[in-house]
Amino acid sequence: MTKIIVIGANHAGTAASNTLLDNIKDVDLTIYDRNNNISFLGCGMALWIGEQISTSDGLFYCSKDVFEEKGAKVHMESEVLSIDEDKKTVKVRLADGSEIEDTYDKLILATGSRPRSNNIPGEDLENIEVAKLFQDAKKVKEIGLRDEIKNVVVVGSGYIGVELAEAFQRIGKNTTLVTRSEKILHNYYDEDFSKPLQDAMVENGIKIVLGENVKEYKGENGKVTAVKTDKGEYPADLVINSIGFVPNVFLGESLKKHDKTGAYLVDKHFRTSNPDIYAIGDCATIYYKPTDSQEYVALATNAVRSGIVAALNAGGLDLETPGVQGSSGMQIYGHKIVMTGMSLDMAAKYGIDVEYTDFEDLQKPAFMENVENAKVKVRIVYRKDDRRIIGAQLGSTYDVSMGIHMFSLAIQKDVTIDELALTDIFFMPHFNQPYNYITMAAVSAVLG
Ligand SMILES: Cc1cc2nc3c(=O)[nH]c(=O)nc-3n(C[C@H](O)[C@H](O)[C@H](O)COP(=O)(O)OP(=O)(O)OC[C@H]3O[C@@H](n4cnc5c(N)ncnc54)[C@H](O)[C@@H]3O)c2cc1C
Repeated sequence: MTKIIVIGANHAGTAASNTLLDNIKDVDLTIYDRNNNISFLGCGMALWIGEQISTSDGLFYCSKDVFEEKGAKVHMESEVLSIDEDKKTVKVRLADGSEIEDTYDKLILATGSRPRSNNIPGEDLENIEVAKLFQDAKKVKEIGLRDEIKNVVVVGSGYIGVELAEAFQRIGKNTTLVTRSEKILHNYYDEDFSKPLQDAMVENGIKIVLGENVKEYKGENGKVTAVKTDKGEYPADLVINSIGFVPNVFLGESLKKHDKTGAYLVDKHFRTSNPDIYAIGDCATIYYKPTDSQEYVALATNAVRSGIVAALNAGGLDLETPGVQGSSGMQIYGHKIVMTGMSLDMAAKYGIDVEYTDFEDLQKPAFMENVENAKVKVRIVYRKDDRRIIGAQLGSTYDVSMGIHMFSLAIQKDVTIDELALTDIFFMPHFNQPYNYITMAAVSAVLG
């Protein structure tokens, strides 16, 4: 019987635990989580706050009971305080305040991430909130619905900041999005793809402030009243600080960490520098195929995949991740963009010499009547040296999200732009055009 302890039971820990319980015989599994809920889908937070869904009930897909029915021992509201790597034990403070020591053969760290703080004056004022846990979602929703909350400022223009800005505008708040970058979603998309969403936000009444650094939160009677930047000041009754996440790496001091982010550095098996300790999800790096290196790509999808691979390895198999491309998508006021791998801006940041090809066309033939037929824009980014595809972006008001998965696989399998040009893509007027935009983009890169 292998004794496995999983620390953290959100997406990564849940995936690892379910994989072990469903697939590995002779496993003695104990799960510790300091929170009181399991598997919260943060992706539903903005939809719930913006009243696009009426209840938060569906935002969980697993529970303590599910794990216990499958034979695990589950301790909620129980924080792991330290690891003794020599003795192979963990020290835990249980829900009743008592402290125990537990032993393991294999340990899986799934301790996740926490919101980055900007460490500026006024951060302790009331009504400055973050968006991470279900508890945060409930608090932000409760405060946001109060009548006296007129002005909401969202700081940070990543996915979560952008989604929350839309949510607050939808419930009638004067909403301002402040970001130090020169475009929204700057870590993921080139401006050609993010701009239509930015324009839609402005058209819907959101004030977008680009290129400004937040320096101070101002307040009166202990409550926030304004956000002060290096260039201006914006009234605020509620502030959501959404400037990114940092990995929780408080445990296992001796374990190797990623230079850039401090996340647990793992190999393709999700083993840390201690072969009996795995690290998965937001607390760890993951093999990022476009740069052929371990990077920090904090996404629920990666948490799930890393959880599955690490659990099977901890259970005695020998499995490597094929890597990830950081694929993601976004919809704002009906504008949809999806991406995988690197944008041009990202490639420039990493110093990779690339070329790209763009194409824009209607999804279906122009003769089609009485059907939704929107324009679709595609950009494919490929390496200049060996012409391997390392990124793609798609944008439309039409749901073209399924198309991006092919590009993700193309990056994973080292497909070149020349090979893509000859890929068999079917034609049928209900779905696409005889000269579809993916083939056309690739062919124009090959033939000019
Ligand atoms: C608002 C929001 C929207 C998002 N939308 C998307 C999306 O649309 N698509 C997507 O792919 N990703 C999305 N993400 C990112 C995704 O939620 C994270 O990547 C994912 O939660 C990571 O899962 P995790 O289990 O690794 O870490 P976490 O979710 O951070 O969970 C870590 C767990 O470990 C527990 N823990 C930590 N330390 C200890 C300890 N010492 N002892 C015991 N327990 C401990 C915590 O209580 C927690 O339950 C979103 C995130 C947020 C906040």
